[in-house]
Amino acid sequence: MSTGPQGHVSTAERRQELAANLAAVRERIARACADAGRDADEVTLVVVTKFFPASDVRLLADLGVRHVGENRHQEAEAKAAECADLGLTWHFIGGLQSNKAAAVAAYAQVVESVDRSKLVRPLDRGAQGRDAPVDVLLQVSLDPPGAVGRAGADPADVPALAASVAEAPALRLRGLMGVAPLGGDPEAAFGRLAQVHRDLRATFPDATWLSAGMSGDLEQAVRAGATHVRIGSAVLGSRPETK
Ligand SMILES: *Cc1c(COP(=O)(O)O)cnc(C)c1O
Repeated sequence: MSTGPQGHVSTAERRQELAANLAAVRERIARACADAGRDADEVTLVVVTKFFPASDVRLLADLGVRHVGENRHQEAEAKAAECADLGLTWHFIGGLQSNKAAAVAAYAQVVESVDRSKLVRPLDRGAQGRDAPVDVLLQVSLDPPGAVGRAGADPADVPALAASVAEAPALRLRGLMGVAPLGGDPEAAFGRLAQVHRDLRATFPDATWLSAGMSGDLEQAVRAGATHVRIGSAVLGSRPETK
């Protein structure tokens, strides 16, 4: 079955489809961990629900998913509100505008895409009313310098950015996030990310999280030491082309 968010399948059918996809992804994670000599519970599955309705989030929660990821503020904010009763952990994984950062920190428990120091102050302000600090990952660019649509901080800028997050009282520096370059070798990219992570932990030993790996490259990410994988299409099906 390949129905997307506009598909007309019954809730029971959709639940079955999600359950089967989830089982397959969990199996992939377990196998990748076994191959890498790691415990499967070292890797947290974040299911990326962008473009899919809150009803899918509800089904996923019922199937045991605890972490969901979203990449667009308005959609994420609405879904988090609609699903507030589910007790899920919301990860913001998309490009952040500084004028939206405070609002994001009001519903996301984890912000994975912090790539410039200009975001730190508004995020900290948005997190201040919450009962726990907001967990922050620094997104590191794994693309060659100057690549089109390059997202993430230059590795050279990570130490200063980390220091600025670490000083923000309502934020907690947790680690790094990276996306393998389109068409590139994920193994090499995640290897570079792991090195930046080792360097970061020399100064910030608590920054132990490494978010890497999507539907197509989770095995390489687990091998490189990922603690979080962000899986969209392998669980939810294909989504309309992003613009
Ligand atoms: C959409 C997205 C994902 C999930 O991608 P899939 O290939 O569908 O698993 C992971 N990370 C980020 C940053 C994304 O934007």
